[in-house]
Amino acid sequence: MNGDDSLPEGVDRRTFDGRERLATSGPTVYGEPTDGDWRLWDVGRSKLGAMLELGMGTGLDGGESVLYLGAASGTTVSHVADFAGPTYAVEFAPRPVRDLVGVAEDRENLFPLLKDARAPTSYAHVVEADLDVVVQDVATRGQAEVALRNRQFLRGDGKGRLLAAFKARSEDVTAAPETVFERLLDELEEGYEVLETTRLDRFHDDHLGVVARPK
Ligand code: SAM
Repeated sequence: MNGDDSLPEGVDRRTFDGRERLATSGPTVYGEPTDGDWRLWDVGRSKLGAMLELGMGTGLDGGESVLYLGAASGTTVSHVADFAGPTYAVEFAPRPVRDLVGVAEDRENLFPLLKDARAPTSYAHVVEADLDVVVQDVATRGQAEVALRNRQFLRGDGKGRLLAAFKARSEDVTAAPETVFERLLDELEEGYEVLETTRLDRFHDDHLGVVARPK
């Protein structure tokens, strides 16, 4: 137990620099400080971390199977692999994937995939079916479309969850973020029921955290 019902098993609050901050247990990745077996999960560098810090109802309990879209060099997905089960990490830029492969060497449940999240058929043969969670942080134009295309991987019993961070400026640099978010949510609702949204601006400017389940 971690003493905080909103956090998954395997995520805890530990004291770093005199403050209670999120932490997971696993090998260090990005120079983050440690406290015994625990390493700081820097929510200023992680949209999913910010969603947990802000108390969003992610539904995460720990041990879930996860498809992570937009893994970059593995900062957040390393923490996910610390508390989740099999974690498939999709990233289409070769440079960060080199680092991601290094992160996976220390984690036997983390599977890096150099793939384009807009083309899920290119990794459907590798990723298992009926996953518990899709985490999305792709910061690219067409973020709702990416979520819709990857909906096929989520379990169909209503218990699957999409945990997405939408970045307004990736869609439109001139429009007001609220307008962009409204458009994205309208599109997302073609395939998902949106359960909760929270602005992540305290940690990430012009980002919206979204929890949704497949319709
Ligand atoms: N999620 C990462 C973290 O917290 O550690 C940061 C992700 S960064 C904001 C967005 C990443 O999405 C970039 O590394 C970018 O290359 C990747 N990306 C953008 N479009 C993509 C696509 N269509 N397929 C796969 N990766 C994509």
